[in-house]
Amino acid sequence: MTEGQKQGQLIVISGPSGVGKGTLIEELQKRRGDLGFSVSYTTRPPRVNEVDGKHYFFVTQQEFQRRVEEGDFLEYAGYADNAYGTSRSQVDAMLRRGQTVILDIETKGAMQVRERRPDATLIYILPPSYEELKARLYGRRTEDEATIRKRLAQAKKDLPYIPKYDFVVVNCQVALAVNELNEILRAASHKSCYMQEVIGRYDRSFAEDGPAGQM
Ligand code: 5GP
Repeated sequence: MTEGQKQGQLIVISGPSGVGKGTLIEELQKRRGDLGFSVSYTTRPPRVNEVDGKHYFFVTQQEFQRRVEEGDFLEYAGYADNAYGTSRSQVDAMLRRGQTVILDIETKGAMQVRERRPDATLIYILPPSYEELKARLYGRRTEDEATIRKRLAQAKKDLPYIPKYDFVVVNCQVALAVNELNEILRAASHKSCYMQEVIGRYDRSFAEDGPAGQM
């Protein structure tokens, strides 16, 4: 990081399967030019229309394990029989370029990020209701009954983690939820950890202005 270059901010977005995180992130990307999305690694087979390298890097369990052992992941976790992990080097490269990096990850991974990157902002997306979530999951017809049940059970396991997030957004209407996310991102960019350069400049002015520093 050279002087004058702003470090990007790290944003974690979690929420139950079917809540619409993917759509919200896509809409947010359309609205802001500075967003980088981290493409995760997973052992889950691709769904119809999912593209390797765009939605995920689809890898075998052996490949995933090798990456775990080599310390490639900023965080990783198991979710509904599959493993998912975030590439540390991918995230760091985007942050160094000053991009705001979005991680769409589940709660266990989010807690690892909280530990390792205390500057990260954690946002949990809630559905308008449990019934609505169920209806959306059945409606999208991408999973069978057993998988949907597993994902609903997982949603229930998320409950104790939700208060640990910095912000909660209810996805009633995509446009409104995107507005709220945008406001949160704007506010989060003013966290003191992201204002180090401004603070440093202010601090140096005291040193340079001899008399004020001696008062
Ligand atoms: P899906 O299989 O529906 O794409 O994702 C299942 C869950 O895995 C979602 O809650 C998603 O946020 C989460 N997930 C996706 N990528 C990662 C990752 O790299 N790490 C972790 N911990 N969770 C992830």
